[in-house]
Amino acid sequence: MKEDTINEVLSGVKFSLTCNLYPLVDEWECINEKPAKGKRTVYEYLSGDYRLTLSLQEIDEFVEVWHISLRRKNNSSFMIENLKIKSLVPMVGVYKVWHTSNISGADFATELRWRVDARSCANTFDPLVLMLNSDGMNSCTVGLLNQTYETKITGGMQSVKGLGYQNKMYQLNFSRFYPVGINPRFSHFEDAIYISKKREDWFDSIRRYTSFIDKKRGYKSYPVSSIAIEPLWHSWYAFLECINQEQIYKQAQLAKKLGTKTVMIDAGWNNSKDWGAVSESASISPNRETFSDFEKMVKDIKGMGMNVMLRWTPFHLSREVDKRLLAKTADGTLPYPCLRNPEVQNKIVWAAKKIFQDYEVDGLWYDTLDKINPDLVCIGGHKHNYATLGESVDEILKRIRKVVNDINPNALLMFRRSHANINNKPYLTHLWPADSPFDYDKNRREVVVMKSYSSGVLTHACCTCWSSKEEDNVVAKHLASIVLAGVPSISVDLTSIPQSHKQLIKRWFNFYHQHKEELMHGDFKPLVLNFPSAAIKIEGKEEAFVGVFDVIPGNIIFSKAFEKIYLVNCSSNILDTVLMDSFSGTFSVRIFNYMWKEASLTNLESTRGQLRIDITRNDCPYIVELKKL
Ligand SMILES: [Zn+2]
Repeated sequence: MKEDTINEVLSGVKFSLTCNLYPLVDEWECINEKPAKGKRTVYEYLSGDYRLTLSLQEIDEFVEVWHISLRRKNNSSFMIENLKIKSLVPMVGVYKVWHTSNISGADFATELRWRVDARSCANTFDPLVLMLNSDGMNSCTVGLLNQTYETKITGGMQSVKGLGYQNKMYQLNFSRFYPVGINPRFSHFEDAIYISKKREDWFDSIRRYTSFIDKKRGYKSYPVSSIAIEPLWHSWYAFLECINQEQIYKQAQLAKKLGTKTVMIDAGWNNSKDWGAVSESASISPNRETFSDFEKMVKDIKGMGMNVMLRWTPFHLSREVDKRLLAKTADGTLPYPCLRNPEVQNKIVWAAKKIFQDYEVDGLWYDTLDKINPDLVCIGGHKHNYATLGESVDEILKRIRKVVNDINPNALLMFRRSHANINNKPYLTHLWPADSPFDYDKNRREVVVMKSYSSGVLTHACCTCWSSKEEDNVVAKHLASIVLAGVPSISVDLTSIPQSHKQLIKRWFNFYHQHKEELMHGDFKPLVLNFPSAAIKIEGKEEAFVGVFDVIPGNIIFSKAFEKIYLVNCSSNILDTVLMDSFSGTFSVRIFNYMWKEASLTNLESTRGQLRIDITRNDCPYIVELKKL
C-alpha cells in the first residue's frame, strides 16, 4: 500500500497529516516548495486530482499558523472519512499537558498527562492542548482553527524502544472522524494548525489562541445588556426540582432585598416532581400542578423590577417532535431528537421563540447540550442536512440567538462550562462554570480558565451554596470569591439562612453593585499561575481589585498607578506584599472586616513608586481599601 501521509516539520515540531478521502487518495507528491516569509516554505502536494497546500501565517516570531487547504481539480466534491493530524513535540519544557476539559468539574488535572483522551465539538470544549513548563509558562500550545467539527484529541508519551525516556516525544493527535455513512462532502476543505511557543503564562497563551480564532471567524460581540451584570439567585442547590410558584415568588422577594436582581428558575418549572426523563425539562409548558399560574408569577416577579430566567434543555426536545425524528444508533433509539434533521432544528428554534413570547422571560440557562454524544452515528433513516453534529449544533444555537434577540435585545443566554466554549461565544451572553456546590475555590478556578477566552462575553460565577449552619467568615469567603470572579450568584434557601448570612450577602453584593462595571469589564489576570488560581487581579478604568485566596504574591505589578485599589484577603496569611508601578503620594488605608464594618484607618506613604502592605489580622477575610489622598 502506498503511503498517503504527509510528513513535515512545522515550527520545529514534527507533524504528519493523514487524509482518508473518497475518492481514494494515493501517495502525496510534493510538487512545490515556495519560499515564504522568514526563510520558510509553502508546501504544495498532489495526489491524483487532489491538491493540498500547507501555507504559513506568521503571527509573530514564536506563534505560527499552518493553513491546510484541500481541493480537487475543477472543484469536484470529495468525502473525508478521517483527517488525522499527529504531532511529536520534544519533551523540553513539557511538564504539564492539558486539554481545556481537564479543568472542568471534578476532572481537574494539569500535571503531565500520560494519556490525554478528549473530545471537542461545537457542543463540547475546544480543539486546543496546552503544554506547559512546571511554572505555568507555555512551552507549546497546539490547536486547530475549526471549532465546530467533532474532533478526537489523544496524546501520550511516545514509545521509543531502547532509547530510554530521555528520548521520548509527546505525541499529540487531533483526529477529525466521520464514520462511514455520514462523511461530510466538501468541494474545498480548510483548517489550520496553530502552534505557539511563546514564553508566556497559560492564561495569555489561551487568550492569544482565542484572539486568533475570533479574528478568523469574524466574531463580533453583541452589546452587553445592562441586566447582564446583575447578581442572580438560583433555585437549584436551594431546592433541586422541588419548587413551586409561591416558594419562588417568596425567594424572589427576599433576594431583591439582598441586592439580587435576577431569579433563575431551574429544573422543576417544566418537569414533574418525580422527574424521570431529561426530555421532560425540554418541555416549553410549565408543570401546572406546581405552577398553576406560571405566567402571573413571572409577571409579578418582573413587576418587582427583577429579571426572570429559565433552565431549558433544548437538545432534548424529543416530546415535541415526531418519533421518527429521534436519533437512532445500531443499539436503539436515543432519548433526544436528531439534531442533523432540519425539522428538528426548526422545532427547537420555534420552541425557544415560544418560551420568550409566551412567558416574557429575560433569559434561558441552557443545560445538557453536551449530553449529545459526537461519536454516535445516527441511522434514523430521516433526512440529514448536515453530516456533522457540530454544524447542526452551530446552526441551532446561531438561530436561537437571532430569534431571541429579535424579541428581546437584552435577553440573557447562559451556557455551562463544556458548551460554554470558544465556538459558542457568538450565541451566548455568559460563560458559566461546571457545577460547583460548596466549593468556592473550584467555582473561581473555572471562571479564571473561562476568563482567558471570554473577550466579548461575560463570565458568571456558578451559584454558590453553603449550609445554613456555616460560619460567617466562611460564607464571606464564598461571597468574596464570586464577587471577584464573574457575575455573582447564590443558591441558598433565603427563608432558612440566619440573619448574619443575609447581612453578608447584602453587604458583599452592595460592594459588587458599587464597582460592578469595573469588576466585570476590567482586565482580569491570575497572579499565581498554578491552580487553583490563588490570587487574581482586575484592573478597571479607575479602580483595581486584588483577591488573594491562599497564596500572597510577594509583589503585584499594576499597569498604571491606580488611585483606588481594593485588596481582598481570604487567606489566613499575613498580607505582606508590595504594590508596584509608579505610585506617588499618600494613600488612606481603610480596613473592613468581612461584615464590611470599618476596622481601622491609617495612612501609607508611597516609596520609590511602591506601596508596601504589611497587615496582620486574624479575622480573614477582610478588605483593604487604598485611596490616594
Ligand atoms: Zn438522524
